[in-house]
Amino acid sequence: MSECIDPIVGKILAGWRYDISGLAPEMCADYDDHFSACEHCRSRQRLHRTIDIALIVLASVSGAVFLLAFGVIRHFEPRHTFWLELAALAGFALSALIWLVVAVATPAPITMVDVAKIGARHVHDHLPAEIRERLPEELRLKITGS
Ligand SMILES: [Zn+2]
Repeated sequence: MSECIDPIVGKILAGWRYDISGLAPEMCADYDDHFSACEHCRSRQRLHRTIDIALIVLASVSGAVFLLAFGVIRHFEPRHTFWLELAALAGFALSALIWLVVAVATPAPITMVDVAKIGARHVHDHLPAEIRERLPEELRLKITGS
């Protein structure tokens, strides 16, 4: 694995988990330059964003499973229904809390919006020209960014 080209900047970025989305634009520029020059930090940034997305997906899946369990318990009414329902709801609440913490404390939502934008741009570029022309100017501007 390659070394960071500027360990001081690299250490600062590591402290922020390679997330500069919360910085002011004029401060971002220097760190953006470092990311474009430093393979080490770029790959670390990718890794951390992947972890954030994985956490939020995991919390979503876990929340859905607990809700499903709640529905199943309600439907079949096994013995100790009340306690099982309570456990399922507690699991759902915990999953929702984890989801919220990840969404607030990490740039996962921004990363997902970026991924969605890239996907939308990809679809937009493959649309037939006559359909592309029919898209409202405002929407086209949002998708292509120009
Ligand atoms: Zn670096």
